[in-house]
Formats: sequence, structure tokens, C-alpha cells
Amino acid sequence: MLKSAFYIGYLKHQDGRLIKAQHEPLIDVPLWEKGQQVRNKQSHNIIHKRNFYSPDFVLRRFTVCGYCSKPLTSYWSQGRTEKYPYYYCKNKDCEKYGKMIARDTYTPKKPFSAKPIEGLHDEFYEYLRLVKPKDKWVEAFHEVFITRYEERKQELQSEYMRKMDIIKQLGDKLDWVVTQGRKGNLSEAIVKKQSAEVEQKMTLAQMDLKETHSEKIEIETLLNHAYVFIRTPHLAWYECGP
Ligand SMILES: [Zn+2]
Repeated sequence: MLKSAFYIGYLKHQDGRLIKAQHEPLIDVPLWEKGQQVRNKQSHNIIHKRNFYSPDFVLRRFTVCGYCSKPLTSYWSQGRTEKYPYYYCKNKDCEKYGKMIARDTYTPKKPFSAKPIEGLHDEFYEYLRLVKPKDKWVEAFHEVFITRYEERKQELQSEYMRKMDIIKQLGDKLDWVVTQGRKGNLSEAIVKKQSAEVEQKMTLAQMDLKETHSEKIEIETLLNHAYVFIRTPHLAWYECGP
């Protein structure tokens, strides 16, 4: 996605040089470099790709260490009877190297008054509850979308009219052939052949017309569904599961 240097305000010259462009950068340089790194890793390192996603540790590599900003990795800790899931920082130079962060919320056994420790997944859930688009952006999107939708509806409408016109012309032609046959201007064989041809074209045209018209969408309903979804991302977090 971030292939183009265009995003950081550069254009590529024919000889490969990057030239500062007139437009404002869309993102800053460090983020762009990060995108390049991810891209390269994903395309060149197959083993890496295979280990990238884990259903048990969905936040692996997407969450970074609060001290060194390197991606966290994950680990199943073997207890006496059970295994416990943890995330940790694997950067040896980091102050928090190897410090385990529980995936699930738990209450420590000691001391008795201990409060539950929030697991990373629940913490992430709380974070998701806070992430939502500002109303003014949703409204702006809605306006642009509806405008474009109305345009498209107009386009479809004229397409529909055009196809209706084709069908009408075919009908006129059929009338003409039959009339000419009745008057004796065309032989029976020709009338039969020509009307069969026209009727076949008519069937195809009607099928085509049906396709244009059958997709009537309740656009407002669909959009409202989408808005509810982007405003409540946290509801999807536990619903979707691994
Ligand atoms: Zn770290």
C-alpha cells in the first residue's frame, strides 16, 4: 500500500531519483520507512510470514514494548498443571527484556488482598472502546458518499432508459416484419427467420434490463449498519474470536 514515495511528498524521476514534489506529504518519513520494512518482510521472508499471525496471540507484533517500541512477541509459560499465555519484549537491549505481560486478566494468589491484574487483551479491549471516528468525519463521509450514490443512480437510470429503448426498437422491428409478411411483401420463410432472430435479441435485451434494475439497495440502512460498526470496534473484539 505504501509502495509509492508519493505518500511522503516525493515523486520518482524516470532515472529512479526521488524528487521533492509540490504536494504536502500524506504521512511522515519514519512511518513510510516502517511500511517499506513490513512490505519487504512480508514478500521476502516466507517463514516470517507463516509465524506472523497466531490465533492465540492476535496482538503479537501489532503491539509494541512501551520502553523500546519493538514489537512484542508471545510465549506459553508452563505452570505445574497448566500453560499460561504471555507477551514479552524480546529486545535484549531493552530495560523490560523478557518481562512477562499476561495475555489474560488474572488475580495473583498472594497476597490475599491482591487486585486482579488486567491482561493485555482486556487492556486492548478498553482501548478499542475509546477509538472511534469523530462525528464530523462520519458526517462528511456520509455527504460525499450519498452525493456519489445519487450520481450513480442517475447513471443507472439512463442506462435503464437506453435498454428500454433497445427493447422498444426490437418490438417495432418485429411488428414491421410481421406486417410486411401479412401484406405479402416478404415470403413466409423470411418472416419466420427474421422474427425468430428479433425475438432472440429481445429475450437477451430483457435479461440485460433485469440485471440493471434488480439491485435495489436500501443504502441508508446499509450505511447506518457500517457506522454502528466503526463506532463500536470493541464489540467485534470478543465476538469474532480466533
Ligand atoms: Zn522493550
